[in-house]
Amino acid sequence: MNTPVKPRHAPMKQFPIVDGELQIGGKPVSQLAEELGQTPFYAYDHSVIDAQIDKLRAALPASIQLHYAIKANPMPALVRHMAQRLDGLDVASGGELAVALATGVSPHEISFAGPAKREPELEAAVRAGVLLNVESFREVELLAKLSQRLGLPARMAVRVNPDFELKSSGMKMGGGPKPFGVDAEEVPRLLARIGELGLAFEGFHLFAGSQNLRAEAIIEAQQLSYALALRLAEHAPEPVRTLNLGGGFGIPYFPGDTPLDLSPIAANLAQLVERASGELPQTELVIELGRYLVGEAGVYVCRVIDRKFSRGQTFLVCDGGLHHHLAASGNFGQLIRKNYPVIIGNKAEPAETEVASVVGPLCTPLDILADRMELAVAEPGDLVVVYQSGAYGFTASPRGFLGHPQAVEILL
Ligand SMILES: *Cc1c(COP(=O)(O)O)cnc(C)c1O
Repeated sequence: MNTPVKPRHAPMKQFPIVDGELQIGGKPVSQLAEELGQTPFYAYDHSVIDAQIDKLRAALPASIQLHYAIKANPMPALVRHMAQRLDGLDVASGGELAVALATGVSPHEISFAGPAKREPELEAAVRAGVLLNVESFREVELLAKLSQRLGLPARMAVRVNPDFELKSSGMKMGGGPKPFGVDAEEVPRLLARIGELGLAFEGFHLFAGSQNLRAEAIIEAQQLSYALALRLAEHAPEPVRTLNLGGGFGIPYFPGDTPLDLSPIAANLAQLVERASGELPQTELVIELGRYLVGEAGVYVCRVIDRKFSRGQTFLVCDGGLHHHLAASGNFGQLIRKNYPVIIGNKAEPAETEVASVVGPLCTPLDILADRMELAVAEPGDLVVVYQSGAYGFTASPRGFLGHPQAVEILL
């Protein structure tokens, strides 16, 4: 039986290969495995994150506030690192709020979005003094009650479900019927209510979608978001001080993906900054990014336990898989399964390759890390490296499923 090889990825260049072995944070992967005393693990390289932040800062207008959306990777050490380098942290739960506050960053630099905020979460946010992106009429009423009870004004922005979509996005988070935010057409009524209640209104938050590699689509969404916010600002009880235009900047995961072209996006943002200086003079423009900042800086590493040959196909069966890295298995928002970039990390410049599939230890056919890829010929003990794993990996995976040992995480 023949095994057609899947399309190839563009080579990953963020980590060096020294003496045939991939290095993360200046250390060979096999040394990392030894020092950690186990596989599987996630390793994140802060220098790759910093290079990405530097690239963004160099491209974007200086007045654009750059926020990190913690849900992409909430590892506390990594969030601390981000807090020191960016202008704000965006959280989406009480748990993430605690992680953000623990960095010691000023509560003024934290904002909290997310549907179904429970009363204790809202209370924690008001007590801390972070900006709440309200997503419903219920939240506004609750915040009025909490503000009064605590004697603290709740700082709030309105998360708007826009009347447009972010085109060609991996995950659409706005436009049409959505549980996120308040429909744009309802926002004037909500703003009137915020005014009546005398709450501390600060601005708007729009987030149209995620994982977009097309600059034109992102530019269009930013322009439409700005125009919508400008219209809604006429109904606001107070001047708009913050306008979060969302993000959606994607990274290349799959064969044929090309990296996002930042320069037209930066040029568009410069125009919006210019317009805002006349039309919304008290407003800071914010963009919030998750995977774009951290996704490429992380790898997931697991070890080959067994090597099997079944009816014409070679399988490398590993100690890691779907339970640690749902996204790489293709089960986190992919419609058609495609391979993440995968290599054998300790044989990164192989003399000999073969077509093999990398699977995990779970008793389900969904547990695939690489489907029929050209890889170095690997043996038990070798290390499989999944690139582009710095976001939506560890905490976005069903880690209790089947009771295998947990992965560990390290920031280098
Ligand atoms: C998930 C999310 C983000 C981050 O998305 P990325 O694709 O990781 O950049 C930003 N803002 C909001 C509101 C989100 O829900």
